[in-house]
Amino acid sequence: MKFLVVGTICAISFSSPAFADDDIAKLVGAMLGETPILSDLEFLTDQIGGRVTGSPPNQAAVAWALQTFAQAQVSATRESFEMPLQWQELAVSTRISGDISFEAGTIAKPFSTGADELQAPLLDAGLGSADDFARLGDRAQGAWVLIETPVLDDRVGLHGLFAEYDAAAASAALALDAGVTGIVTMSSRQNNLLYRLPLLTAKNRLPLLLMEREHAMRAQRLLRAGRSLMLTATIEIDSDYAYQSANVIGEIRGSSRPQEIVLIGAHLDSHDLGTGALDNGANAVMMIDIARQIVRLGLKPERTIRFALWNGEEQGLVGSWRYAQQHRNELDQHILAAAFDIGTGRIKGFFTGGMDGLGSMVDEYLRPVAGLGPFQQVNIPLVGTDNFDFMMEGVPNLIAIQADANYASNYHAASDTFDKVDQRQLKLNSAIAAAVVWGFANAEDRLPRYTRAQLEELINSTDLEHQMRFFGLWEEWTSGNRGRQE
Ligand SMILES: [Zn+2]
Repeated sequence: MKFLVVGTICAISFSSPAFADDDIAKLVGAMLGETPILSDLEFLTDQIGGRVTGSPPNQAAVAWALQTFAQAQVSATRESFEMPLQWQELAVSTRISGDISFEAGTIAKPFSTGADELQAPLLDAGLGSADDFARLGDRAQGAWVLIETPVLDDRVGLHGLFAEYDAAAASAALALDAGVTGIVTMSSRQNNLLYRLPLLTAKNRLPLLLMEREHAMRAQRLLRAGRSLMLTATIEIDSDYAYQSANVIGEIRGSSRPQEIVLIGAHLDSHDLGTGALDNGANAVMMIDIARQIVRLGLKPERTIRFALWNGEEQGLVGSWRYAQQHRNELDQHILAAAFDIGTGRIKGFFTGGMDGLGSMVDEYLRPVAGLGPFQQVNIPLVGTDNFDFMMEGVPNLIAIQADANYASNYHAASDTFDKVDQRQLKLNSAIAAAVVWGFANAEDRLPRYTRAQLEELINSTDLEHQMRFFGLWEEWTSGNRGRQE
């Protein structure tokens, strides 16, 4: 148990006289006080561990979440759904040979194809740009190409992470056109750190390796010194079949408008190299803790509040998509869907999805926690986490905007572990999130769901199409697979 920080948290003033109200003051006070949020997170990360959807630890996490909601006397259900595609690495080994030989530390990138002692020349493909592939010409055909990445650390932050995703998608397309045998990407993180960065474009057809930065730089220097190298890789994966997974949905029923639903959620699944503390165990346990404190205090929200622990987020936001399908006949009554997914950096405000009027509601509901701000809402639609299907169904949606902190440098990495969590800030964030959910659950006003025509207008007036294409979701929308149809 680590509650050393709580005394200082409680000293922070959180009420604003104009909006001070007994219930919200009690709830915020409870979130800032002693709660099991940190011991929950320690259990989820250290004892259950990395929670890849489709793995036994992920199933254990679902069972644990149901049990933890039950212990908090929050009713919760397990909502099963089908995951379209299994992909898990079983084992990878990579050897560099030729003029110089060494074992290189690698992992498979998500959705890599398998390989069995696949040997080919290793070539220096620079940063993997069009110029780099033009320079390689026909030599790239049938070769492994080594692609350099800039260092990603906390100074570069999320900006660097998005740039890395972008560059990986662009170079993969060029490599595929060039007929390479496979891609070896240099880790952007120093000190031998490896991580799983999925390729976000259309379905992959190549072996994709991520190599420890130090080994990749050595190979690159050798190639640039004129040495000739071969790379031999064996990639064993478990893949290519559908399977069952489940979301866990906690619920506190509304007292006067129970049919109206305020949904807040965080994904329970993670990648497997670390234990998914920043992404996204911290925010998952925050959902449980808010529900727990509302019940413990005996508070009665006017609307129903649902606390969603999504699964399959890392494989394409699948759990929240399935929820939107399974609850389609209730979506008109969903007055909010909020997502928390950027680690434990300070919540600075919310992305409000490009929906008129939503930002001013959030401004108002944040007033009781003004002392934890400042806050600023940003009214743009953003793709990349579990707000997506709600946004495309026209449901008012939020993503918490968080300070970069140490999120990007540990993103999907072996280093995403409990010790990286900012425990004090997680407590503060839980009070901020509780204030927002309480505001939406009790306010008089609500926004209507956007129509299909309004969503098309949103697409036409923003970069939403570009983002959806980037995440491989554009055809899901145009084909009618995802999003509001009528
Ligand atoms: Zn996440």
